[in-house]
Amino acid sequence: MIFQTRTRKTNAPVLRRVRTTPALRPLQHRLDPSAVEEIPLRAGDGVRLGLTRVGSGNGSGDRPAVLLLHGHTASADMFLLPETRNLVDVLLDEGYEPWLLDWRGSCRLPYNSTGGRYTYDDVALYDIPAAVARVRERIGDRPLFVVAHCIGSLCLSLSMTAGLVPGLAGVVSQGVFLTPKLAGRTSLRMSLAGELLRSRIDHIPVDFRSVGLWSKYTPLFALASRKADCPDPTCQILHNSAWGTGASLFVHEHLSETTHGRLADLLGPAPLWILPHLRRIELARTVVRWHDTDHRYRALPPNALDAAGRIDTPVLLISGSENGLWLDSQKLCHQVLARRQPRLDVRYTEIPGYGHLDTFLGRGAALDVYGHILDFLGEHR
Ligand SMILES: [Zn+2]
Repeated sequence: MIFQTRTRKTNAPVLRRVRTTPALRPLQHRLDPSAVEEIPLRAGDGVRLGLTRVGSGNGSGDRPAVLLLHGHTASADMFLLPETRNLVDVLLDEGYEPWLLDWRGSCRLPYNSTGGRYTYDDVALYDIPAAVARVRERIGDRPLFVVAHCIGSLCLSLSMTAGLVPGLAGVVSQGVFLTPKLAGRTSLRMSLAGELLRSRIDHIPVDFRSVGLWSKYTPLFALASRKADCPDPTCQILHNSAWGTGASLFVHEHLSETTHGRLADLLGPAPLWILPHLRRIELARTVVRWHDTDHRYRALPPNALDAAGRIDTPVLLISGSENGLWLDSQKLCHQVLARRQPRLDVRYTEIPGYGHLDTFLGRGAALDVYGHILDFLGEHR
């Protein structure tokens, strides 16, 4: 990822549908609406976020709470798929109280497309601690777990090593945690950098219908369609290309037809202005703070792995054996932490045959993945 974002000329054409209001797009679920409580939440810097509690209908009682963190450009919808037995269903049935955060990288919010730019420092410093604090206001001293996917998990690792979310009952991290190792870097550098720079692209869209057949994004979709087995352009840019990185986000046959058909609703456009931070993280092979001189971010460690001794909770690292985006980052994380922080309770579970997003979006995830999460939560509740 060697390219950098450029300032757009003020007369650049607007080619995407953009939302400018901070209103949350409605969640898509099949729960009883009376069980779904949307709770107003602002991050520590005032940015409006989404927080949703899902009740059981019998009061919360002594149910442990589980806060779910989505990946970048996804949203809380990824845990609520109406077409499958999803993680929220499973948690409710097993006696937990699910909470869902839409942090500022959610496609239910407009910030990836419009509004002020941000880095993962902002998510770690402002979004996740605000959500944890708000949940705790409501649940009192009941246990609070976090289950986090992809960049949600990466940002959580920075919050945890900063000591901003102490006392969690346990954390489940999917895909990547403290030691990111990205796939597809070579193809990204070789194939896309020049094209993107020439076109002054600032987002990678996923919804072909919204950008049209002929646009500055056409080369991206054309590249993603090379050697693709599936004719759907949105699927191609995610499954074949992972927003142009050359990686793959899921094992294709694990998605139901319905989920496959709504990928453009489940994953939004990826902002290129986040890439300098991601590239710094990628080069460091650990989660590093972006802001080195801005005193507002001094609570965050410059290097999260070096601060891993501050982790005060059991951690389960999970990953599909076929993760085509973060490769074996979780296995590596387990090895590194076992060596450097032997007193931490950190485990690694590999899900055979699974990729990245299908660990949550897959039609068989309830059978193949969630049992590992429930075993871990059950051990620490
Ligand atoms: Zn497809």
